[in-house]
Amino acid sequence: MKDFSFTIHKEYPDTLARAGVIHTAHGDIQTPAFVTVGTKGTVKSLTPEQVRSTGAQVVLANTYHLYLEPGERRVKEMGGLGNMMSWQGPTMTDSGGFQVFSLGAAYGATSGKRLGKISGIGHEPLLGAYREEGVPKLATIDPDGVMFRSHIDGSAHYFTPEKSIDIQHALGADIIFAFDECTSPHESLHYQKEALDRTHRWAKRCLTHHAQHDNATWQALFAVVQGGRDKGLREESARFLANLPFDGFGIGGSFEKQDMSDAVLWCNAILPKEKPRHLLGIGEPEDLFMAVENGCDLFDCVMPTRIARTGTVYTHAGKIHLHNAQYRDDHNPIEKTCQCYTCQHYSLAYVSHLFRAKEMLAATLASIHNITFIVSMVDRMRAEILSGDFMAYKKAFLADYTTHTKKD
Ligand SMILES: [Zn+2]
Repeated sequence: MKDFSFTIHKEYPDTLARAGVIHTAHGDIQTPAFVTVGTKGTVKSLTPEQVRSTGAQVVLANTYHLYLEPGERRVKEMGGLGNMMSWQGPTMTDSGGFQVFSLGAAYGATSGKRLGKISGIGHEPLLGAYREEGVPKLATIDPDGVMFRSHIDGSAHYFTPEKSIDIQHALGADIIFAFDECTSPHESLHYQKEALDRTHRWAKRCLTHHAQHDNATWQALFAVVQGGRDKGLREESARFLANLPFDGFGIGGSFEKQDMSDAVLWCNAILPKEKPRHLLGIGEPEDLFMAVENGCDLFDCVMPTRIARTGTVYTHAGKIHLHNAQYRDDHNPIEKTCQCYTCQHYSLAYVSHLFRAKEMLAATLASIHNITFIVSMVDRMRAEILSGDFMAYKKAFLADYTTHTKKD
């Protein structure tokens, strides 16, 4: 029997929200859960003990980055992703598709067009989403896979669905993803359809390849639903993948913020209720409430740690910027009610000083606070689904958070 399961404990009335538990070979994940991102096999600036202290249950690393450096062979020889980074809990890897396609292939049909920054985008785009006129594409696609050049040294590489699965077997995370094509929301419907057909063919190939490997007894394989902002394509994708024996589903895509809740609802209305659903690359408070309400169980995002490193931290009254002069003489913690290590030990004045002095500890302390903030918020959503009033919590949280954020 497979060492992976999902059990739903409670469904919240009049929504798609649910609370449950995902069992993996390296421990359980109480859902809904925020997945902390450790792109290159480390949650930036934090030790695993510090990550654990935030309440984080699971870490996601990026296949593309670990493939390039140190290489999946070395990760395997170090005992796999979890052992390598000394993280005892569950781990995940993405398929590498998002990074590879952000190098250019997914944006092929609009080659040379200035796309601008796409909000709510998954993971860490490399070049594609920000590519400007005259910048050459670093990836080209064919029916079998994608040729791309390393963003580190320009060397040529080729990913197929089988190659992505082989790499993820070597990395050894508990939950892995099928190789998919992540398109830009600016692409034409014609291109979205073509890319979606490719993603579906690749999903089947990933499934077949994974099933032949010993790791299939404990590594769970999730498919990724694509289809851009088109309802028909999203539903077609959800239906197609729902009929295949995947262990769970990701919802992928580069979303314009306003399209995201529609896409999530279209997909989750079709995806089988009994399997976990992961909304890829989402982590801002407003988006997390939307995702939970609409039936997602997992979410990952670099945002809490990325903004922490530049001095922006979450509070219940919106985000604040630690570089602002007003904090230089503020002897309160970032948040009085916060139980994190940072808020229990340090004042705004001190953390603000660390940022001004460009001390490394600044990133660590701000990251601990931000991950704790997001993880605690999602844990509270879980508690409210189980025994309280999820919708009242959502309303109260967002009333406070967005009012102040707007003023900011
Ligand atoms: Zn705190």
